[in-house]
Amino acid sequence: MTAIILDGKALSSKVLDELKTRVTRGVQPTLGIILVGEDSASELYVRLKKDACTKIGGEFVLKRLPASAGTRQVLAAIDAFNNDSSVDGILLQLPLPKGTDAAECLAAISPEKDVDGLNPINLARIFERKPGFVAATAKGIMALLHANGVELAGKRAVVIGRSPDVGIPIAGLLLAEDATVTIAHSKTANLAEVCRDADIIVSSVGKAGIVTPEMVKDGAVVVDVGTNFVESGGKRSVVGDVDPRVCEKASYVTPVPGGVGPMTIASLLENLVEAAQERAATA
Ligand code: NAP
Repeated sequence: MTAIILDGKALSSKVLDELKTRVTRGVQPTLGIILVGEDSASELYVRLKKDACTKIGGEFVLKRLPASAGTRQVLAAIDAFNNDSSVDGILLQLPLPKGTDAAECLAAISPEKDVDGLNPINLARIFERKPGFVAATAKGIMALLHANGVELAGKRAVVIGRSPDVGIPIAGLLLAEDATVTIAHSKTANLAEVCRDADIIVSSVGKAGIVTPEMVKDGAVVVDVGTNFVESGGKRSVVGDVDPRVCEKASYVTPVPGGVGPMTIASLLENLVEAAQERAATA
């Protein structure tokens, strides 16, 4: 079997075109971005998010803080965006420098402006099956699975990774669509055995090649969230968590790059446009 590639780049481009039409006909959204420190990967992700925001006709305000800022300064920046009526949505780019409390900062983002969906109130809403902003990466993965007709109800899913930004929300969304979900993590005994029964594997670990063909049953759907920068022959490139040989066994695989990454950005902007429309409707 050769896996079908779940093309996140193509689908995200379609989503962004649709958002542009919505923005042209309706409200212009503004994204408030907080970037702390000078991590090169974070700089890249913020640039991609700014470009996509511009592409749909939205505006952004970028608040840069030094790596030494600390929790209090980040909280002050969040507070300023929370109280700025011209800002519809807030993106706090992760990871934050060591010593800055990410959980406290994410909890301080107003749930109505939490377009990345990482405030604990919005995370809980996934499990409560209540409306709210869904974490952008998890929302993007579901959109990619739905667009390709991947069936979820009654399927066995293994999510590798239990972070509040990826593993937990995607597990909640799969559960809400009636998959039987196992969450694996660094203390899981015999990960290969746990995965071998799965119809769907979502890997969000951040370790290149951790998902090997031996862990994947024939015909499984494999979603690769991992973003790992590797050096080879003096060249830096990005690879996922999934060993490329998995394509010989799986039915569907998301590529890295070009799979989950672009869908995360599209979903963030979908949330932003919704936030702007909600603001306009209640103004
Ligand atoms: P994280 O907070 O570091 O979480 C990693 C998770 O992997 C943890 O739950 C950890 O378990 C688990 N883990 C580590 N080693 C393991 C092992 N040997 N076996 C099984 N589980 C193991 O990272 P994250 O924020 O969730 O991100 C994960 C990856 O996704 C990173 O590469 C990140 O760059 C990428 N990412 C991509 C996107 C995108 O849009 N494409 C978005 C977000 C993140 P413990 O909980 O036990 O420590």
